[in-house]
Amino acid sequence: MKRRQFLGMTALGASAAIGYSTLSGFSMFSGRASQKRPLGIALVGLGSYSTYQLAPALEKTERIELRGVVTGTPSKAEEWAKKYNLSDKNIYSYDTFDQIAGNPDIDVVYIVLPNSMHAEYTIRAAEAGKHVICEKPMAVSVKECDDMIAACKKAKVHLGIGYRLHYEPHIREVMRLSKEKAFGEWKTLFAEFGFRIGDPTQWRLKQALAGGGPLMDLGVYCLQGICQLTDQLPVAITAQQVKTDPVKFAEVEETLLWQMQYESGLMASCVTTYNANIHRLHAAGENGWLEMGPAYVYGGLKGRSSKGDISFPEVNQQARQMDGFADVILQNAPNLVPGEMGRRDMVMVEAIYEAMRTGATVKPEGF
Ligand code: NAD
Repeated sequence: MKRRQFLGMTALGASAAIGYSTLSGFSMFSGRASQKRPLGIALVGLGSYSTYQLAPALEKTERIELRGVVTGTPSKAEEWAKKYNLSDKNIYSYDTFDQIAGNPDIDVVYIVLPNSMHAEYTIRAAEAGKHVICEKPMAVSVKECDDMIAACKKAKVHLGIGYRLHYEPHIREVMRLSKEKAFGEWKTLFAEFGFRIGDPTQWRLKQALAGGGPLMDLGVYCLQGICQLTDQLPVAITAQQVKTDPVKFAEVEETLLWQMQYESGLMASCVTTYNANIHRLHAAGENGWLEMGPAYVYGGLKGRSSKGDISFPEVNQQARQMDGFADVILQNAPNLVPGEMGRRDMVMVEAIYEAMRTGATVKPEGF
């Protein structure tokens, strides 16, 4: 047997594949749900992620479909209504958004706005009685995450975070191998995610809208990657920033390195940057290692390990994510990406920023 076939063909690999299809609703749930009208979703914010990833993915979903939009730009409303055959009554501006409460066409609202707007719009959507998917990072503070979770609980609606990689088969395999301790106890974990940012005027470089720099945008994937490898939580965090362009990065960090220590002696080391293209997740254990690279992209993820390649057919991550969220609503399926997970990550983000600012070793509190 070729090395690359090894992981996919083990008994564990087979059971993971079954577990995955069940969790994501592709076997157990799809038959029943497909007899009903799909749920209706409204995208809030028609920027790049909505336009190029979510709307196309919604053409591939089975149990949820694009039925509305919320935008501040009338020309976009017109264009989207035409392209996706949306009814006029399902088009909202930010001012009329709250009227969505009375619209039975819309079951789910998906917040795809700059980070500092996530909390407000999630809470308004919950108060309108709609289930909510909120993009990452969940918010810009733990306090906001608490308010969002409380609002969704009060309104008895589900809250999911846009952590699409939980629905991606390579990453699910990494989670399974880690849980099964296929390489023994992990000893060191590395996560790196960065890209070279362009337009110096964009909201991602503005503290008030982004809540921070690459840590908020890309570093949360590193935290997610580390938490997919281990269910331990860090007890001590140190962090250092490097700034080579103080004009472009006047408000937010440019490159941030941080280290997390765990009670067991495990160490995690992470880098996030707006100054270089890096995409890696690596774990080394007692009996071997695994690596994903690229690890966080929309497609073309590649995995290797000391036992062979980690290789699965390509899927549409966002379509699976949104169908998976529909299953949470329709079939009481497990929510793989609840608000509590986004909040957990924000506890680490706040500790990392405190360590960066103070130079001290910070114990993350309030998980
Ligand atoms: P974008 O800049 O392309 O779009 C932002 C949208 O928000 C635009 O339609 C803009 O008009 C609207 N907007 C409303 N008020 C605004 C204001 N005051 N300032 C700026 N824009 C305002 O951004 P994007 O890349 O689509 O990112 C949106 C969200 O989605 C972010 O939270 C980001 O982290 C997240 N995202 C997630 C992924 C993922 O893979 N899960 C990928 C990309 C982006």
